[in-house]
Amino acid sequence: MAQKKMFRRAAETDTRDACATRRSPLDSCVHFFHYRNGKLHCEDVDLARVAQEFGTPLYVYSASTILDHYRRLDAALAPLDHLICYAAKANSNRAILKLLADAGAGFDIVSGGELFRVLKAGGDPAKCTFAGVGKSPEEMEYALDQRVYSFNVESEAELGYIGKIATAKKLRAPIALRVNPDVDPHTHEYTSTGLQENKFGIALEHAAAIYERAANMPNIDIVGVQMHIGSQITEAKPFADAIKKVVPLVRELKLKVGIKFFSIGGGLGIVYESSFASGAKEWWDSSTITSASKSALSIQQYVDAILPLLRDLKLRVLLEPGRLLVGNAGVLLTGVRYIKQTGQKKFAIVDAGMNDLIRPALYHSYHEIIPVEEGRVVALRRLPPCRTARRPYQLSKSTRKSKNTNKTMEKIDIVGPVCESGDFFAIDREMPEVREGDLLAIMSAGAYGFVMASNYNSRPLPAEVLVSGDKFSLIRERQTYQDLVRGEVSVDRPLRGRC
Ligand code: PLP
Repeated sequence: MAQKKMFRRAAETDTRDACATRRSPLDSCVHFFHYRNGKLHCEDVDLARVAQEFGTPLYVYSASTILDHYRRLDAALAPLDHLICYAAKANSNRAILKLLADAGAGFDIVSGGELFRVLKAGGDPAKCTFAGVGKSPEEMEYALDQRVYSFNVESEAELGYIGKIATAKKLRAPIALRVNPDVDPHTHEYTSTGLQENKFGIALEHAAAIYERAANMPNIDIVGVQMHIGSQITEAKPFADAIKKVVPLVRELKLKVGIKFFSIGGGLGIVYESSFASGAKEWWDSSTITSASKSALSIQQYVDAILPLLRDLKLRVLLEPGRLLVGNAGVLLTGVRYIKQTGQKKFAIVDAGMNDLIRPALYHSYHEIIPVEEGRVVALRRLPPCRTARRPYQLSKSTRKSKNTNKTMEKIDIVGPVCESGDFFAIDREMPEVREGDLLAIMSAGAYGFVMASNYNSRPLPAEVLVSGDKFSLIRERQTYQDLVRGEVSVDRPLRGRC
């Protein structure tokens, strides 16, 4: 469905354009969530309205934020021949894939299912790289038939299978080895992939020999070198260190076999702790950023660190960002069901659970949580005015009282309804009073949010909405109870044993 037709206009909206459409690509805001008249908006759409219409828990994504990130990265890489292959695993809703495909992106895929989605969204298989340590023979056949740009091969065994399948199909398989540079990305142990102890890639010192073997295989074309050292990396140095380690191999292969590309993977981190405030360009420019700045790596800083190392290779450079493009383009809206006070603790039990957003439970990751109606939680300090008339706020350390209610900040756990103590979104979070019926926005939920959701506790998957300017559209329906049992074999069918 065409994007234009898909959206419909929000009734009560301001006609101001999202700032992406007004500014040059390198001078734009970082996300488009902001308060307007005390109400949290995504671009020009009032989120309370969207929640009222589609219910909660509900994922809402900002199309302008996604495109703004894509365009800023693309512009910063202009000195290089480059292709941005969006890592579909971060958020694979077809509407998001289509946005990026239309903008010219390629895709980094890790399964036949992701390739299927990309094709359904109108993505070009000739711009797809197929990664993953455990590709099945069926997935290899499918990707070969679709003529993907490259198989990023993660082991010698996998190379053997691709060779056999390509030969049987009388096709040529374009391959790049994923090399493991053994660089510490200083990220969560579960999202580190470029250390030798990780299951990913081929040790750098073994790569030349395996390329040699590949060169002698009849239906294999060596087209590139690939690496990816991890995710949510917030310093430029590990990227630069890894590139420096792999570049000699890249030069050698360019000379010997004429490879076409060097893929440096994804992994660029986003701001989680000051997610809301980081939407304003002023936040990035401000010299007063303190602890939050530790987790702030701008696109420009990243590109400045890698460009000098890549420029004179005279090769096409591939990037595979996932989180960077979609992470802070999405929020998870959730309603407060109950407030529960125990001996030592106060809990807000919300209607979203770990099955909807597993990141806090899995990685103990931090997500900022803000009210959809600003007046409900008001210990927020105004930052210098943004030129776009959006109203950026940040939590004030000095303000410990609510403006309207004069209520003291209190520590509260924001938890879900799932039967696990790990089902939490915030522990001992200092927040102004949260009450039953409040609507909260869990920020930076656009990446590794819905894609990791499950039906645990037989909870239907949440709905997803895409916003663009003053228009919004449902891009995934909320599951029903019927959906929960669809595909299960009828309980009335008798069990059959062996004859
Ligand atoms: N490329 C590969 C091979 C990956 O495994 C991943 C995710 O872990 C990515 C790209 C995307 O990473 P990120 O979302 O951190 O940019």
